[in-house]
Order: sequence, then C-alpha cells, then structure tokens
Amino acid sequence: MKALILGGGGREHALLYSLKKSRVITEAIAAPGNGGISEMCPLFPSNILDAKEVTDLARSQKIDLVVIGPEAPLVAGVADALRHHGILVYGPGKEGAKLEGSKAFAKNFMKRQNIPTAPFDVCSDLDEAKKALVKRTPPYVIKADGLAAGKGAFVVSEMKEAERIVSELLVERRLGEAGQIIVVEDFLKGYELTAMAVTDGKSYRMLPLSQDHKRAFDNDEGPNTGGMGAYSPLPQVSKSLINRIEREIIAPTVEGLKAEGRDFIGTIYAGIMVHDGDPYVLEYNVRFGDPEAQVVLSICDVDWGDLFTACCSGTLEEFGEIKAKTTAVGVVMASGGYPGSYEKGYPIEGLERLKDREDILVFHSGTKKAEGKFFTDGGRVLTVVGLADDLRQAREKAYHAVSSITFRDAHYRRDIAWQAFV
Ligand code: ATP
Repeated sequence: MKALILGGGGREHALLYSLKKSRVITEAIAAPGNGGISEMCPLFPSNILDAKEVTDLARSQKIDLVVIGPEAPLVAGVADALRHHGILVYGPGKEGAKLEGSKAFAKNFMKRQNIPTAPFDVCSDLDEAKKALVKRTPPYVIKADGLAAGKGAFVVSEMKEAERIVSELLVERRLGEAGQIIVVEDFLKGYELTAMAVTDGKSYRMLPLSQDHKRAFDNDEGPNTGGMGAYSPLPQVSKSLINRIEREIIAPTVEGLKAEGRDFIGTIYAGIMVHDGDPYVLEYNVRFGDPEAQVVLSICDVDWGDLFTACCSGTLEEFGEIKAKTTAVGVVMASGGYPGSYEKGYPIEGLERLKDREDILVFHSGTKKAEGKFFTDGGRVLTVVGLADDLRQAREKAYHAVSSITFRDAHYRRDIAWQAFV
C-alpha cells in the first residue's frame, strides 16, 4: 500500500517512521512534511486544509491510505472528501471532528453520554458569561469554543481578569470566530494525563497512557506551549484507574459517537484530569497528541499500517490488545524564546551520530534541510526520544542524546517524566 501522511510536525515524523516499519506499507509520501520527513520520503507542498488539493494529490499519486496528523484538516472535512473518492483515511470526518473543533459540542456530548467532565455553562453573550462566572468560585476556567492552537483556554484567579477575558472573547473577538461562543467550567484540581485509543467506529483499542508537559520551563512554570515533552507508559497510574478510564470515558465515547450516528475512524484523545482519584475529561482531541505520539507510537507492539488499515476497513475487532513493549521519554528541543518570538535558520549539529541508533529516535518538528544540512525552522525543533525497558534508563538515554545535539539558543526542559519518579 502507498500511504500519504498529512502534516509537518514531530507527530507526523513519528507516524511516518512507524508506517515505514509496517509490512503492509510499501511506499509513502508526505505533505507538507519537514526537514526530517524529507529524509524518509518525497514531500509535496500542498495546502492540507484544502480538501480538493489533498484529494487531487492522493488521486494523482495513487494513494491507498491517508493518515491525517493535525486537527485543522480534520475539522475542515478533508477526510470526508478523500473518503468520497474511495480512499482509506485514518482520521474522522467533519462530524466526528466536532469533538475537538467545538468545546461546547464536546461538553454537551459528554453530558448526554454521562461521561465525567467538569460542570459547565455554554455562553454566547456577556450577560450569560458573567452569570456563569458569578455562580463559581475561583480559579475560573474559560475556554473559547473553536480551535485556537492551544491558546483558547484560560485559568485565572481573579474575577476582574475573568471578566476581562470573557469580554475580549465575546465582544472584542480577540480569537475571532473561535471565541464567539465560550465555555465557563468548574476548576478541577489534580494531575493530568493523556488517554488515547484507536477506533474503527465500532470497536476500540486503548493505547498506553502518556503525559505531556505543557509549560515552557521546569517545575511546570512559565507559559503554555504546544508540549515540551512526554513519556509513556505511566508506572505511577494503577491498573484500576486505567480500567476506569477505559470504562467511564473511552468506551462510552465510542458508544456515544456510534449511537448518535457520527462515524469516527481515527484516534480518540482524552485529556484527563485525575481529581480526588477520579478521572474527568478536560478536552477531546480527534488525533494523536504531539508530543505524545512520538513516545506512544514508538513503544507499541503493533504494526501501525495493519492497525490503521483495520480501523479504516471496520475490522479492528479482530485485533488483539495493544501493549507497550518498552518505555519511552521524549524531550522537546525548542528555539530560544519559544513560545514567544524566536529566531530561526540556525544550523543543527550532532544529528548524524544518532542516526542509526535503535534506542534513540530523533523526530523533527520545525526543521528545514538545505545543502545536506538541517536548520531550525520553528518553535519546537526536535523531539528526542530515549527507549529502554525501564523509564529511568529511557530518560537518561533521551537526555544524553539531547546533550549531544546543538543549535543556537536551544531550550529544553530538564525534568520530563518527573511525575513518574516522585
Ligand atoms: P491544548 O490544545 O493546548 O491541549 P486547549 O486549548 O484545547 O488545550 P484544554 O486542554 O481544555 O484547552 O485546557 C488547557 C489546559 O488548561 C489543560 O491542560 C489544563 O491544564 C487546564 N484546564 C482546562 N480545564 C481545566 C479545569 N476544568 N480545571 C483545571 N484546569 C483546567
């Protein structure tokens, strides 16, 4: 089979790496890709939000399977257009993608399906929003309904600031259409984790749990980022909590989508807060997380090409349980200044030495290749993954590799996976 991977981040590099190992994938291309991906397959500079452009590319390249990495093309309905032409697509259509594309939809879906989530109000004007805030105690949690590239959730301790945010969203339209409806919800104290499952719309298979590190600096300080590192599995999480996450969240999500007639082929990502020992959904994503994909895809004992094909053809039921065969810690190396403004175009040194290692994987996010050399080309530049039987060793390997890679003003967190060792 010939696969097309849509996207150009570390997640897509990891997807390509995993598919290249599959016995059913004989050829692959990517659009738009990045420097690292260009080493592994041909790149096409298509606009991946344009359903027609993607469909034309897939048809002209005789693609059998399209794997859609990021959320924006899913929410834009690119999967529907491809399916319309008989192409297998791993990723939900527009209706299923609403779980990520609209927080108001997701919250109401959870309410209908009895899936645990923080109590909430959906507000479309200032009056409603102020009433929703007054009924709550600080900290206040306010979320823009639509996609906002991780910048649409606010947790604030002062009522004055909460009022300013709802006004900026609803009146000044600071996030445009994404903030014309907002969700105000109760604050949940606890720790966060990521639960992902693959589904063909009828059956599902859980993937190992993982944890992202959203803040820019050590000790979870500093501004939110796209994610500064991840690890999997989570040795500190009990089997009984994992079972509850499956039973109370993943199974009813798949059942609920089916019962409501929303076809869903792809990854269900539940961002979970464990509050007083109980799991609650903070948000859904309808694709693999980045950087969670870089660790989870690397450790599973499965042929990903087989698995995605089974999801696309409705035969996931025949698949066994998906197990982790090793552990992984992934450290994101970012450009100095990220998530604020940063410079790009700096040469990256030290990649060559790590190239053939089986226990160190370097996935590229913001990189560009020119004249045989790699240059920084984005905020998050690389995810360096260490693999080992034991998480402590995996972390040592990842950091040892990170210390051998250099680019000007490189920044990374030194405490990825800290929650596994407390
Ligand atoms: P991203 O796209 O970056 O994953 P998002 O913008 O879609 O995030 P959420 O994941 O819903 O928004 O929220 C972002 C972060 O805000 C969460 O990871 C969590 O740390 C915090 N948060 C969200 N909702 C709550 C809540 N009800 N209680 C406490 N913290 C919350």
